[in-house]
Amino acid sequence: MKVLVLGAGQLAQMMYLASAPLGVEVMAVDVKDNKIVNPLSKSPYAIDLEFAISDANAITAEFEHIPEKLLALVNDSGKFFPNVNSILAGADRVREKQLLDACKVANCQYRIISKLDDLQNITADLGERIIFKASRDGYDGYGQWRMKSEQDLESLSQIFEQLDLQGVPLVAERMADFTREISVIGARDNNGNIACFDIAENLHHEGQLHLSIAPATKLLSDTIEQAQSIFTTIAEALDYTGILAVELFEMPNGSLLVNEIAPRVHNSGHWTQQGSDTCQFEQHIRAVLGFPLGSVQRQKVTAMVNIIGCTSFSRDLISIPGCHLHWYGKSLREKRKMGHINVVADSYQDLASKLAQLSQYLPSEYFPLLATQAEKLE
Ligand code: ATP
Ligand code: MG
Ligand code: MG
Repeated sequence: MKVLVLGAGQLAQMMYLASAPLGVEVMAVDVKDNKIVNPLSKSPYAIDLEFAISDANAITAEFEHIPEKLLALVNDSGKFFPNVNSILAGADRVREKQLLDACKVANCQYRIISKLDDLQNITADLGERIIFKASRDGYDGYGQWRMKSEQDLESLSQIFEQLDLQGVPLVAERMADFTREISVIGARDNNGNIACFDIAENLHHEGQLHLSIAPATKLLSDTIEQAQSIFTTIAEALDYTGILAVELFEMPNGSLLVNEIAPRVHNSGHWTQQGSDTCQFEQHIRAVLGFPLGSVQRQKVTAMVNIIGCTSFSRDLISIPGCHLHWYGKSLREKRKMGHINVVADSYQDLASKLAQLSQYLPSEYFPLLATQAEKLE
């Protein structure tokens, strides 16, 4: 069987690796030129897009920023999952907000900015600490501007003046004073069955995910219920098939606010490769092909550490028991996700000690990050 994935990055690569044991071949579309490539070797196949679409048993996407023409083309095949609406809700923050509001799912208070005038009296609504997000093409914190006080408004207006606000509006959000960030990732199959993985706790730095711990520490049963109910509401509203990720802010009073959704496998679910009976990549492939979902039973406790913008580390880190390297084979660029490490341990304490060991193999920038996390776990 064959699954065609729109996008040829690391997520397609990991779907490819997880599908092979099932006898499923994953092919990827490089959306820059619509060439069909092997997601692991990146070598092109001698077939064109049309043939690949007709030949595939299912088509899916590894990212949401897909050219509209291509999206329409795969939609016409009747084999595209999750579906176009879900991809658009993930790709466009205005549509995402409309979805969350229509589902009555709590999210950060916001205002849409489609002309400079819309900034009038904004602090009266949202307070002085505001995060402005381009409604399209944002990821890893790109396309965001943070306002710390009303005084920043003038310089921000000058920046916004240069943007095509009518074409690509901004979503201005009140800065949430969350206690931490968590995410719920799960799958919905084409019969409507839902299986969520354990909730992960996520540490971001400069808008980019650096580390996840699963399960999140000190989780209340009420938080788990809230998160799963939010997941179900959104997945059902979208009539979703496949893996869906929901990023959440946990507030001091225990309530959850949705930050954003991702209509695909997600970085904060990479821990499932070693930490769960079925990983998110295999689960997604199962769902889009109409196979039964796999067990989401968690094995031990897991941390996932992103390797960002660097190649200077010792591969010997795999000598630490429970440490697994996933290297994407990409060329080096600043802030680029180059790979990740999953660390599996028997307890949080054991995990803390393994993270401390791990820091000996990584560049010194990682010390504060791993030390802070290790301290929290002990
Ligand atoms: P991703 O790579 O997850 O898709 P993104 O570029 O879409 O990232 P967001 O998830 O919207 O960006 O924001 C990145 C990070 O910025 C969040 O994980 C969070 O740490 C912080 N952030 C975003 N919105 C808010 C908010 N309203 N209040 C406080 N912090 C926020
Ligand atoms: Mg995002
Ligand atoms: Mg995010």
